[in-house]
Amino acid sequence: MTTPHHPQPLIDVQGVHKSYQLGPTSIPALRGVSFRVRPGEFVAVVGPSGSGKSTLLNMIAGVDKLSAGEVLVGGRPIHRLREAERARWRGASLGIVFQFFQMLPTMTLLANVMLPMELSGTYTPAARRARAEELLGRVGLAEHIHKLPSRVSGGQQQRAAVARALANDPPLILGDEPTGNLDSGSAEVVFTLFAELVAAGKTVLMVTQDEALAARMPRRIELGEGLVRRDSAEADDA
Ligand code: ADP
Repeated sequence: MTTPHHPQPLIDVQGVHKSYQLGPTSIPALRGVSFRVRPGEFVAVVGPSGSGKSTLLNMIAGVDKLSAGEVLVGGRPIHRLREAERARWRGASLGIVFQFFQMLPTMTLLANVMLPMELSGTYTPAARRARAEELLGRVGLAEHIHKLPSRVSGGQQQRAAVARALANDPPLILGDEPTGNLDSGSAEVVFTLFAELVAAGKTVLMVTQDEALAARMPRRIELGEGLVRRDSAEADDA
């Protein structure tokens, strides 16, 4: 049941453990992480290198198995879906922006942004193209849609990656250090795009090493050695 004051969380991470097995050695990356994110939140995930930030994103995106615990996204226990079903869920419900853009190099920006719609079978073929053009226009790339990623700057590639993440209009956007490989001007442009998505009702969870950016986000979850060291939402409640 949901109440007006406590809407169902969009992300519900419950006691998540994740260990990587390297031969006989078990490396604990997450050691019991719990938190909830409500729809419309803008959350910074911070912490030193090796603290489990990327592993946590992978658990929420369902790209890797967890060792114990539960992750619910939109109420669905995503780690219990079959792989094909999980891939379908991910394609329709999640946008992910990575540090190194990960645009397909032989495809134009337009084709890159159309791809998630083609893979998920969303929209009609004509509507996919119009939608991709509109999204690229929204991130300021209208004049560059027919270029290959290598023909535009890193900041422009990352703006195209944001447009691609929005292709299927997902409620949740995950960023894995999306500004980490950009100059400060481009980082600001990309960060502003994320802030605009939140203003438009999306939920954004972003891993960042940039303390100045994290300070501008309403909520901050700090990881250390696979545990939540501090969650500003809990600190506010206390
Ligand atoms: P962060 O993103 O905060 O830098 P990670 O989630 O990448 O941290 O890593 C957390 C811990 O898990 C580290 O000790 C790291 O070495 C380990 N780890 C991450 N991915 C793997 C993997 N694929 N195999 C083995 N160990 C891993």
